[in-house]
Amino acid sequence: MENHIFDSHCHIQFPAYATDREAVIERAIDSGIKMIAVGTQKSTSIEAINLAKKYPNIIFATIGFHPNHLSENWHHDKNEQGENQKEVFNYQDFNKLAAEKEVIAIGECGLDYYRSSKDKILANTEQENQKEVFIQQIEIAEIARKPLMIHSRPSNKSSDAYLDSLDILKKTKFSLSVIFHFYVGGIEITQKLVEFGANFTFGGVITFSHDYDEVIRSIPIDRILIETDAPYVAPMSNRGKRNEPAFILETYKKIAELKGISYDEVIGIVGQNVKRIFNI
Ligand SMILES: [Zn+2]
Repeated sequence: MENHIFDSHCHIQFPAYATDREAVIERAIDSGIKMIAVGTQKSTSIEAINLAKKYPNIIFATIGFHPNHLSENWHHDKNEQGENQKEVFNYQDFNKLAAEKEVIAIGECGLDYYRSSKDKILANTEQENQKEVFIQQIEIAEIARKPLMIHSRPSNKSSDAYLDSLDILKKTKFSLSVIFHFYVGGIEITQKLVEFGANFTFGGVITFSHDYDEVIRSIPIDRILIETDAPYVAPMSNRGKRNEPAFILETYKKIAELKGISYDEVIGIVGQNVKRIFNI
């Protein structure tokens, strides 16, 4: 059986690729790459499903509501959505989308304390809102029997958002797989999450920063996935440019180097991880 290279978290449906999306996808396909297009609100979730329909068994979709979209000062990123696409989380809409067969996970959802408001009271309200919407998405994932693609990011030099996420996962008794995307935790919190059974994805940042080396060495290889988070954070050789799935090979090589195994072994093992976790 042929081994495929998986980009476990990218946003190939975003307007960042409006003018050349097909060419970008072709370049990925030519390199043997399959992609998980991750939704960040209703509009980008539906666009991810549409792409998965267009490229069956090459692109897979997730649907979710990103915690940063719950801030008082809604942050507009022109790479992510057009003007005036501010949304309010609607449980029923997402619950319906979750049942679509192209949808393999729920998220990105979670807790982002990194971009919390400076004002303490406002920050508290935002975090409470994030928790509430995270819990609702956990419920949707449980009903759909699909894993969770988690975006949680702690405030500076802290593990707060990871600890709160873990607490919520335990309290809700979530019974399926969880994946912490763009993982930035330290050794101690990583041990706790590994014990819980979590999986982790790493992106291009590990090719130009040594901050993640020790944590990656400490995580069992059967819990590791690899992502681009494209269009964001391109790996070293394209640093600062728009990222795309075809750039992911460099990050696979970096994981091979850190784990002391061959590039082919990483492709084989990570491919098996993706198939097991997302049931594809
Ligand atoms: Zn993302």
